[in-house]
Amino acid sequence: MEMLTDGFVRRQLVERKRRLDSVVGVSPEDPGLRRLLKEIDSALERMDRGTYGLCEACHESIEAERLASDPLVRYCLDHLTPAERSALEQDLETAARMQRDLLPPPQWRFDGWEAAYHYAPLGAVSGDYCDVVVRGDEAFLIVGDAAGKGITASMLMSHLHAIFRTLIAVGLPVDQLVERASRLFCESTLSTYFATLVCLRVLGDGSIEFCNAGHCPPLLVQEGQVARLEPTGVPVGMFCEGSYAMRRAKLMPGDTLFIYTDGASEARSGADEEFGERRLADCVRRYRDLPPAELVRACLGELEQFLAGARRSDDLTLMALRRVPR
Ligand SMILES: [Zn+2]
Repeated sequence: MEMLTDGFVRRQLVERKRRLDSVVGVSPEDPGLRRLLKEIDSALERMDRGTYGLCEACHESIEAERLASDPLVRYCLDHLTPAERSALEQDLETAARMQRDLLPPPQWRFDGWEAAYHYAPLGAVSGDYCDVVVRGDEAFLIVGDAAGKGITASMLMSHLHAIFRTLIAVGLPVDQLVERASRLFCESTLSTYFATLVCLRVLGDGSIEFCNAGHCPPLLVQEGQVARLEPTGVPVGMFCEGSYAMRRAKLMPGDTLFIYTDGASEARSGADEEFGERRLADCVRRYRDLPPAELVRACLGELEQFLAGARRSDDLTLMALRRVPR
């Protein structure tokens, strides 16, 4: 990871030490400051000895994402003290709560449209991204999937959330929205991080405009036929200069669009069989006349029945958007 080169971390630590030194000069009795200074010195020493980033108990590498967020950690996850472990669990709980607060309302209505979704992290937090933003007479729906799982992916997810919320407020067309989001994401994260997503602009006349950035194709159900909304560009953040084609579709009253993450299509049963897009499409077609919340529930039910108790291996998001029938 390029951010974690010794040179980079060392500069960060030396800078922190310099700032701390100046504060310690003002309040020399503060034990917390003295302890922190000592920890920084010890990290710099470990760097000189070539043992920085190795667990002091097992000498294996410490998880890179933990080092990136706290360059002073000295033990891998397997060798935390009980106090450290409980602090970590509390952090995770807070992160999960913050992530839930970023989600849109579970059901939603807008100018002749209705939508509902199901969002299920695999662990405490999810790398799936799901948002609905209403802006005047238009609404934006985004469903995405950040590379990886767990805490790193969830941080990317909240990063995307902030980027899209900001860009949507500017009033850009969908293709430029995704293009700029991709550039911002690319420039502000490591090159190995990216996310697939679908960004939709929904209008009161039944039309939608969308970009599909390398995401599993949403399923559009019209008159009993299921069409896929194929990718129109690469995942966001993969290349800083990517461009995205925008496509349009028109939905008539009763038509439904179903968006999902690969946690659904790639879920595997105990017999190692994949649920697959075909089963999902079949399910959406069969239940297409149900309102979005019930359609989502029905598809989820079929997925769970298929898994028959086998544990999912990825975060999962299902969203249905329907043009309200007359
Ligand atoms: Zn260890």
